[in-house]
Amino acid sequence: MSSELTSDYTVVHTKSKAFYERYERKDDLQHQTHFCPGCGHGNIHKMLASAIEELGIKDRTILVGPVGCGVFTYYYFDVGNVSAAHGRAPAVATAMKRSSPEGIVISYQGDGDLSAIGTAEIVHAANRGERITVIFVNNAIYSMTGGQFAPTTLIGQKSTTTPGGRSAATEGYPLHVCEMLATLEAPVYIERVGLGDNKQITQAARAIRRAVENQVRGVGFSLVEVLSPCPTIWKMTPVEAQHWVRDVMEKTFPLGVFRDRTREAQPLPQQKPAPPLEEIPGILGVADADLPEGNAHAMEGSREVDLQVRIAGFGGQGVLLLGEVLAEAGLDAGLEVSWLPSYGPEMRSGTSNCHVRLSRQPIDSPLVAMPDVLVAMNEPSLRKFDASVRPGGWIIYNGEAFPREYERADVHVLARPFTRLADELGDPRASNMVMLGALLGIADVLPQASIDAALRRLVKNPRWVALDERALDRGRKIYKEAHEGVLP
Ligand code: SF4
Repeated sequence: MSSELTSDYTVVHTKSKAFYERYERKDDLQHQTHFCPGCGHGNIHKMLASAIEELGIKDRTILVGPVGCGVFTYYYFDVGNVSAAHGRAPAVATAMKRSSPEGIVISYQGDGDLSAIGTAEIVHAANRGERITVIFVNNAIYSMTGGQFAPTTLIGQKSTTTPGGRSAATEGYPLHVCEMLATLEAPVYIERVGLGDNKQITQAARAIRRAVENQVRGVGFSLVEVLSPCPTIWKMTPVEAQHWVRDVMEKTFPLGVFRDRTREAQPLPQQKPAPPLEEIPGILGVADADLPEGNAHAMEGSREVDLQVRIAGFGGQGVLLLGEVLAEAGLDAGLEVSWLPSYGPEMRSGTSNCHVRLSRQPIDSPLVAMPDVLVAMNEPSLRKFDASVRPGGWIIYNGEAFPREYERADVHVLARPFTRLADELGDPRASNMVMLGALLGIADVLPQASIDAALRRLVKNPRWVALDERALDRGRKIYKEAHEGVLP
């Protein structure tokens, strides 16, 4: 709220200019917030808006909103607004602040968001001393979702998931976020305030302003925890809820300053900008010999390429390596490429698959929903992905015969016992390269030199390189014997 003294000594209170004039909500609700009567969020919003207005930072403020009752910050604050996934606001705020150091980035979070699912994010953001401001609204319960117990729920407090009251023996003790973060070296300012009476509210407004001002001064991480009434879930009147903050909640969460290095803190030096892309190989020490020789084997002409491949099998069958060799060869040939692996937690015999795209155009998504070619290294993979192959595409199947029930009239099929064929070459584990050879025969979009270079970069053992080369060759021949032509 802004206050003005007019020439006739009248005090005029107006809405802060950091708020939108009208809230773009449902038609008949554009003049009011979605908060319940007596909810602390409304007061905290006003305090934050006043701080933003008074500090003259509206045009460079970015508010990172939470999941929870505070989710709709973007309806109210006329600043940059970003919504973060549950608990992730400090991580999002970190990224925003680091990429826009001149911005004033404020993470606004409730206790379900910050002290439960987001515990790791807030601890590490504070420990890194990120130059952000965090407003932590603690009402000791999950409110938006109907009143489940939160890490901040008081001992004995009833919730839908602790109907008999929270017990230290089963749910542990209330988490004291300010005290916990105050054990860290980096934070500059940590204070807990309350909305239990007018005196507390005045102090809360001061603390919020200071936490924002610290960021304007560039001195480091600041967090203000606000004990806030939630009359609806606490099943109290607004007045009872306000008194409960002061008379009950405050006993578990004492108010006070837990860290204040605001005065002595000096503005931190500007963070170093990220190095230009071309310097990164040198920094990583992978320049020259380790890197592809910049389109050394670039393909002639401007032939269109847009190949989408799905490779699937069991872990240990070389599914991911097959995809990697394909993607690496595409990179060597100067194409845009993506390689997206997906596998279960088991080291062996779990499912494993990957998506590979090669294109002359920038790739919009690494996901391959309708592959041109499916490489199915076993029957479960065929069963899972055969229907996704685009009409006119190919299925390369590792089996004596293609199972009848998966036959489709609109796709080409190449079914061979690739494992046995690889065994004949010297090792059944080379079946992935025999299948890759068949795939390269079908797609025919890569120069041999790029495939050779990719293989040598990814396979270090010379014995395996020699075996894989034979396997690739065998795969190409298998395709040639079976079919002629290339993919459209
Ligand atoms: S449920 Fe509680 S926290 Fe949510 S808007 Fe209502 S009073 Fe506020």
